[in-house]
Amino acid sequence: MRRRIIVLGSTGSIGKNCLDVVRANKNLFKVVGLSAQSNDGELAAQIAEFKPEKVALSNEPSWRRLRSAAPRRVGVLAGDSGPVELVETLKADVVVAAITGGAGLASVFAAVKKGIRVAIANKEPLVMAGGMIMSAAKKHGSTIAPIDSEHSAIWQCLHKERPDRVARLILTASGGPFLGMTKRQLAGVTPAQALRHPRWKMGRKITVDSSTMMNKGLEVIEARWLFDVPAKKIEVVVHPQSIVHSMVEFVDSSVMAQLGLPDMRVPIAYALSAPDRWPSRLRRLSVAEMGRLDFMPPDLKRFPCLSLAYEAVEKGGAAPIRLNAANEVAVEAFLGGRIGYADIPRVIAKTLGRNGPLKIGGLEGIMEADAAARETARGCL
Ligand code: MG
Repeated sequence: MRRRIIVLGSTGSIGKNCLDVVRANKNLFKVVGLSAQSNDGELAAQIAEFKPEKVALSNEPSWRRLRSAAPRRVGVLAGDSGPVELVETLKADVVVAAITGGAGLASVFAAVKKGIRVAIANKEPLVMAGGMIMSAAKKHGSTIAPIDSEHSAIWQCLHKERPDRVARLILTASGGPFLGMTKRQLAGVTPAQALRHPRWKMGRKITVDSSTMMNKGLEVIEARWLFDVPAKKIEVVVHPQSIVHSMVEFVDSSVMAQLGLPDMRVPIAYALSAPDRWPSRLRRLSVAEMGRLDFMPPDLKRFPCLSLAYEAVEKGGAAPIRLNAANEVAVEAFLGGRIGYADIPRVIAKTLGRNGPLKIGGLEGIMEADAAARETARGCL
């Protein structure tokens, strides 16, 4: 029997890579649901190829166009609640959560509550509500399978290891395109420069996050919840080649690493197949050809976003929500040409520093804290 899969965020970079994995394993999967924000053209092509039962499109004009273009048998849901409705109404074995930003939180919860596997690419749900998601997953028998390459690496290294035997998680970071820049050069970075990542082809928001190292900061928080390891036991090391995707050090001082060429289809396939592995035709790594691998500590002075993330996870409660919300607001403003590159950490630090309740209660409380932080961050632009 083929596994039934819903891909949320199917027209984004992860979504398309995921459908590529499905395409290569057609005998294993049946796509039952797809969701996108506004790209109705791409979604229409995906409907024609994968024949899902239902799809969702948040943007209203795009939804109208798709509704008249899509075949009758396909349900086309509208609005921001579309992804949740897909998860709640379709019978599925796996949900791929690849909606950018905080918008993906509700659908992750919906999937967890159904006890199905969530292959999670979107960082924000774990950053904003990691504790709640992991305990709900435990309660409902859902597996949270990381797609993020670093977390996939750690997940693989931890396979069948006892949690109390873990000494440290070591997250690798490519360092982004501005690794060698001075503080002064960094201040003059333009959106076009920030959108050119040397190793990974990704969406706009995450590419900027990767250049500021906020991406790594969010990953530290994500790892803290996924693997139940305190942030002080999570170290970040810069590794420009992005071949070692991350490492785990055990109490006996042994270190396990997972290596591979940077291709998102590898962690996506593992999130779907784990603990099994499927043969693939993707390009193979030749360590002999690589010759050398470099590692160095991150420069927190030039990349303050990483320290801000550690600060937020240390504070706990609503602080990571504020960090994330402020970052989303700041990155959007930067891409829109409204603030400079160096203003991104400034806006985040200011938002984090503002007083506000640290306690959060339930999904609603999280969304409220998120909205309040966005408001504060906009005031700091
Ligand atoms: Mg990553």
